[in-house]
Amino acid sequence: MGQFATVLALLRDASTQQFSHEDFSELREIHRMLANLTTEAAHAARLSDANSEVGSAKIEDYFTEAHGMSRAETRELLTRAENDFINYPQHRCAMWSLPWNKRIIIDRELQKLDDPKEAPFLLKQILDEAHDLTPEQLTTQLRQRTRRCNDTNDDPFRAEKRRKFRISKPDVDGGRYFSGYLPAYAASLLKTAVRRSFNQHAGLSHGIKVQDDRRTYDQRMADAFTHLIKRTEDTHTARTGCASIVVSMTAEDFENFRLGDRFATSTGDELSIFDIARLGPALHDYFALHTPDGNLISLTNTQRTATFLQRVALLARDLVCTHPGCDAPLDECDVHHIISFLNGGGTDIENLTLLCRHHHTSNDDTHRKPHRGHATRTPRDPRVGFSHKGNIKYNESPAARRASSQRIRTRFANSPQPPPPPG
Ligand SMILES: [Zn+2]
Repeated sequence: MGQFATVLALLRDASTQQFSHEDFSELREIHRMLANLTTEAAHAARLSDANSEVGSAKIEDYFTEAHGMSRAETRELLTRAENDFINYPQHRCAMWSLPWNKRIIIDRELQKLDDPKEAPFLLKQILDEAHDLTPEQLTTQLRQRTRRCNDTNDDPFRAEKRRKFRISKPDVDGGRYFSGYLPAYAASLLKTAVRRSFNQHAGLSHGIKVQDDRRTYDQRMADAFTHLIKRTEDTHTARTGCASIVVSMTAEDFENFRLGDRFATSTGDELSIFDIARLGPALHDYFALHTPDGNLISLTNTQRTATFLQRVALLARDLVCTHPGCDAPLDECDVHHIISFLNGGGTDIENLTLLCRHHHTSNDDTHRKPHRGHATRTPRDPRVGFSHKGNIKYNESPAARRASSQRIRTRFANSPQPPPPPG
């Protein structure tokens, strides 16, 4: 039993009693102290390689897999532990004495510093004042000072270093937000290209006269942007396939689809029939079709790199990273040899699976390290699982369940068994 069992019992007991508002400040204090202790425990977990408990080489996985924390929460916790125990241990006491919400603000704003070497100096300044500032004032103060630090830091490549581009997870309608930052030259390229596309196409779609166009400016800009991407994809050497979108469906899906159906793809987007049609005829090469019983043609190749056709077959079988709980789509995955090439594993489809960068780099290819797990496949189950300490777990994430072959298996498992033959 852990050393906090008594505290837990006390709190559990307290929760059955009447509260008064006077308890609030004490509870906030308990919360602050627990949060600090959690940070210390996270540091201890890193020092003792707690990740071996979940068979991973990465400490993040201990928190996400053994404690159900999200990746974002884990990142936040580990950054905090690193700040307190490795980067600025001299400021730990002062940081720990702050109310928890102020602590979070400081961590967040410090990350915006271009030059991490400025951080201890800034911390020293702000920690003297933080107790007397409201959270809003603290945020403003920190933002102003970070900006000042960044401005005096005369780095000619600052814009270059800040470049980024992100696409969100799909929302309920299947659409995605994107955001980013480009240095001036790339931004001007983008602006010119969108503007040109806007002028060429935006007002003229499908024979509608400009004066009858009811689209908003935002919608027209979005159409111009889509046009631009579409043109790039059309001129791309689509026949090589690796950068193309692959749509996974069964033969039955293909014959009997309904208008509302959505199909899983290699980018993790679920596309409707209309979306697929809009993407154009080049895509038809990349439908991954199955026989009704879910079988795939086994492809053999003597080359180490999986060929495009194998990627198609893999997509149809796995669709996402096969690590338990992961939903990274094919585009973010590497093709992994279950038995490594050096140990004589071939590149036929039976020996390949998808693993995202994170899980691929954590996989124990030697199968000999007791604290690390590896992707595996047993003759009894066609699925690829993750083996650790003699247990095999499978990816049951919603994205993994979308894979056609998985759906076929589910459907087959749920269908009534034929009656036994008479006699
Ligand atoms: Zn993964």
